[in-house]
Amino acid sequence: MDATTLSPQPSALVVGAGPVGALTALGLWQQGWQVRLLEKEALTAHNLPSSYDNRQLALTPQSVDWLTQTLKLTDLSAKLTPITHIHTSSKGHFGSMLMTASQQGVPALGYTIAQRALGEVIFAQLKQTQIQFITGVQLDSLRQSNEQVILTGNVTDEPVLQKWQADRLFAADGAHSWIRNQLAISSETRHYPHQLMTCIGTLSETHQQGAVERFTPSGPTAMLPLADAYQVKLVYCYDLADIDQVTHMDHDALVERINAQLGKAMPQVTAISEVMHYPLVEVKPERIQSGRVLLMGNAAHTQHPVAGQGLNLGIRDVQAVVAWSQDADEQAWHEMANARLKDHRRIMRATHGLVTLFSHPQALVQGVASAGLTLLNVMTPLKKRITRMAMGY
Ligand SMILES: Cc1cc2nc3c(=O)[nH]c(=O)nc-3n(C[C@H](O)[C@H](O)[C@H](O)COP(=O)(O)OP(=O)(O)OC[C@H]3O[C@@H](n4cnc5c(N)ncnc54)[C@H](O)[C@@H]3O)c2cc1C
Repeated sequence: MDATTLSPQPSALVVGAGPVGALTALGLWQQGWQVRLLEKEALTAHNLPSSYDNRQLALTPQSVDWLTQTLKLTDLSAKLTPITHIHTSSKGHFGSMLMTASQQGVPALGYTIAQRALGEVIFAQLKQTQIQFITGVQLDSLRQSNEQVILTGNVTDEPVLQKWQADRLFAADGAHSWIRNQLAISSETRHYPHQLMTCIGTLSETHQQGAVERFTPSGPTAMLPLADAYQVKLVYCYDLADIDQVTHMDHDALVERINAQLGKAMPQVTAISEVMHYPLVEVKPERIQSGRVLLMGNAAHTQHPVAGQGLNLGIRDVQAVVAWSQDADEQAWHEMANARLKDHRRIMRATHGLVTLFSHPQALVQGVASAGLTLLNVMTPLKKRITRMAMGY
């Protein structure tokens, strides 16, 4: 083939270097795209955006398989802790359900990793590429034609307004997406009447790679195993009315509160560290595509972290984009966006349903939900289906 018949290299602007944006940039670059990754935070060579904090993520086997096998993030495997069983129950009721990896014939139901550790693996890989990574970007305008998308903005310490253009724009700029606002895509925002506290907990006995999820009227309390056999990630949801009290509690009082939520049947927490608090919101845009722009990750779907689905769903967005980018067909672009929106709606419905069902103020509804857990425990095919959905399949 002579040079004149070569098709030009397709180009992408990716906005936001959180996990979804950074993975999208990496995936597109691996498919031969020319990629510019624009991040709002001004970073030094060794810094990660602040989104990569110490929150512990539960990743599904589907996410992990894709990241390690297709995206070749092979260094990830050493940083993962497997979850081999999950015990789910409802405070004040008898029902419970146990899901195990052995029932599913798989090595793990999921894996835990700190968002920061995931970021270190992704950024080490990004440094091996020719992706142009521009940080300290203050976007100013977004325009698009039938052929191109054009962004303008300022970059820290550069006096001249910059202009970036590309064939497509992938917006992974988080829950308060600037791109979504520029496109005038309206979204429904739901503020939950709870807030979430997460920390690292030390147990009086080993966790045996088991996770615990316990529903209470103020939301779920959960425990996820970490690499140290005595350490877990703890998640505790509390009423907004208690915000002042809980955010000012000392560690001993918090340990007591968490143990009371988990109940005596569960391993007891003896100490905690690295406490962080997050507001709980759901953001659901009416659409996720406009012309040559696609919303991804939290910009397209911000949800309650109870089911640990937020980033897993974002990784499925990345998978879809990378698969589409191989042919980059126009009709397939629209089909891909529709399919992603359907998947978002399905997962967000299930997540919100879980939160409301188990935190319903009427004991009857909670009782029925708990009885449902016991029933599920013996209804093997349905339980299998739910387990596989949680695993990302
Ligand atoms: C406590 C907690 C626990 C969680 N646990 C889980 C879990 O177990 N499993 C799971 O799957 N998910 C979990 N999640 C969800 C997961 O953390 C998010 O889904 C994930 O961080 C979303 O990634 P993102 O890249 O879409 O957005 P973000 O992480 O929000 O990143 C957005 C990036 O865009 C940048 N940006 C913003 N505006 C602009 C702009 N105008 N220009 C350029 N850049 C911009 C930001 O600086 C940031 O770097 C949890 C969330 C919380 C809060």
